[in-house]
Amino acid sequence: MAATPKSKAEQQTIGVILAERIYAGLIVGHKLSGKLLCWPAEPNTQDAEDENSMVELPADALVQEICKLIVEIVETTEGVKGKLTAVGVALPGLVRQGVVEEAPNLPQLKGARMVDMLATCLAGHGITVPISVVNDADAMAAGLASQHGKLDSFIRVWTIGTGVGYGAYPFTEGVWEGGHSVVTLEDKENYCGCGGRGHLEGIMGHRAMRLRFLDMEPEEVFAAANRKNPDPRCLEFKKLWHKALAAATASSIHFSGAGRFYLTGYNMRFLDLNMLKDYLHQMVKMSPLQSYMLEVVADDETTRVVGAAVAAQRAVGQ
Ligand SMILES: [Zn+2]
Repeated sequence: MAATPKSKAEQQTIGVILAERIYAGLIVGHKLSGKLLCWPAEPNTQDAEDENSMVELPADALVQEICKLIVEIVETTEGVKGKLTAVGVALPGLVRQGVVEEAPNLPQLKGARMVDMLATCLAGHGITVPISVVNDADAMAAGLASQHGKLDSFIRVWTIGTGVGYGAYPFTEGVWEGGHSVVTLEDKENYCGCGGRGHLEGIMGHRAMRLRFLDMEPEEVFAAANRKNPDPRCLEFKKLWHKALAAATASSIHFSGAGRFYLTGYNMRFLDLNMLKDYLHQMVKMSPLQSYMLEVVADDETTRVVGAAVAAQRAVGQ
């Protein structure tokens, strides 16, 4: 049975991201077509205070909410019903063959057979479509690659938020969690949500920072580090935070070569780019590896929704 080849402009894919909220949109030719749907509606400013709105929902309920948004797009957009080529869902976790193997920041998803659950739920609404589930940091990388016209080059992205995500595009088969790169051999560094010692996320992750400074919010820590008479403990931590990111980036450069790194996530507000560059310069000394680039980009939902859709399109071979 020969399928009719479709031009890129005709491909209709739905991208979904599961983050502090669920966002979904119809993606046509790597661009959002129509509006981005969101649940729960009416987002406040994206800040850490409402980071936990998804944590309390069981996996089944999350799947149902995701499906509701997909159904809404299909039913309210003319010409989509029966023409959808793929659905891509990005979530913060380690996903293999449609199963969430690990999700430290949404523990209820661990072990969930997401692709099967979504397929069953959508079939109940009369929608049959190939579904891909990918890591949200990889979706961010795919979204940035498509927005910046770099779908043909290798890019990496750090997402610094509640946790720390590492994504790369093009996707490669395998299991990796760059946010859990070991960046220190210090025995006391055990704040990572995964339980591992010396991890990047255990230093940079929002949750880990709260655990480390029980008496101060991360915002206060950085404010105290940046004022004229810095608090020594806070300044020390600010340096550690930047060294950790430099170390993980340097390791990635030493393993996979120089190239472009995007930096994003709501805690990029704490970034001192010069400090990061300075540490990275101290850590990467071999000249063939020094052509790396760092670029700070806004953490916007649309990019990640596009990325989830791009991932799904590639999974169905388009
Ligand atoms: Zn970890």
